[in-house]
Amino acid sequence: MTASRAITNKEQKLAVVGSGGVGKSAMTIRFVTSQFYDQGYNPTIEDSYRKQVVVDDEAVTLEILDTAGQEEYAAMADQWYSFGGGFLLVYSITDRSTFEAIPGLHQDILRVKDQSYVPCVVASNKCDLGRLRAVGQLEGRDMARRLSAPFIECSAADGVNVDVAFRELIKLVRRNEKRMAL
Ligand code: GDP
Ligand code: MG
Repeated sequence: MTASRAITNKEQKLAVVGSGGVGKSAMTIRFVTSQFYDQGYNPTIEDSYRKQVVVDDEAVTLEILDTAGQEEYAAMADQWYSFGGGFLLVYSITDRSTFEAIPGLHQDILRVKDQSYVPCVVASNKCDLGRLRAVGQLEGRDMARRLSAPFIECSAADGVNVDVAFRELIKLVRRNEKRMAL
């Protein structure tokens, strides 16, 4: 192990945001434990998890904040937005209103952080429920492009692309930190 490898064990703070019931907790728990925790619909206020992962040969210690639905806890949202260095913006393909909520959330994040860019990944969850789809993949992709964010369809239930979405976010946060350090 080289010395440079040892000192790159950085911390990142990530927040998982989106409307109630879209699968924020299911995605977080899937990523942290590799399990699908079907807790029914149980809107917790917030929970945080720590996890160490290696991305592109660099270790990172994550603190992941699993937030509650923004509608119910609007008063706390500003704190979550200040906390996060990167955001997973989650909606459900089965619920159009959760998709429509994303640009407003993104706007709020930029406002609270007073930045024109904040690392975000749009995660369109519950892709296992194709028969209940209410938001097309192309619409999702278009919206994400307008936010300058990668778009990833995933399923916390089936474990599809959840790791990919978090890893993509970790890379964006790293890239942004390098850019800010210049
Ligand atoms: P949160 O309010 O955003 O944290 O949503 P939860 O993680 O509590 O999930 C809300 C409901 O959707 C629960 O009943 C979950 O079991 C279910 N759920 C979450 N992710 C998925 C998924 O990928 N597919 C399916 N079919 N159900 C999911
Ligand atoms: Mg939850």
